[in-house]
Amino acid sequence: MLYGNYGINPYQEARKPSEDDLYGPLRRRGSKKKNYLCPKCGNGYTVVKSLKRHLRYECGVAPRFKCPYCGTRSKQRAHVNEHIRRKHSGQHIYIIDSP
Ligand SMILES: [Zn+2]
Ligand SMILES: [Zn+2]
Repeated sequence: MLYGNYGINPYQEARKPSEDDLYGPLRRRGSKKKNYLCPKCGNGYTVVKSLKRHLRYECGVAPRFKCPYCGTRSKQRAHVNEHIRRKHSGQHIYIIDSP
């Protein structure tokens, strides 16, 4: 007897979309909390290292680094560096350090 064409499987599994396909894997939001607050000014920091740096170099400290071209002051040398690069591009970068 003939049972038709054996080459074709009529019950081929249709692939069902999984929930992951539909919604994507659950994403966790990494919300970093600022656990370290400065007791003097209330600035928050995620790591204690940053708070210590802040207390030592920033909090209550007069900005000592100065742009030689316009007099802009900053508490961090890197900020003045960045400032000169942006505002006085092409100029020689040097910083006046006046504590
Ligand atoms: Zn502070
Ligand atoms: Zn400047």
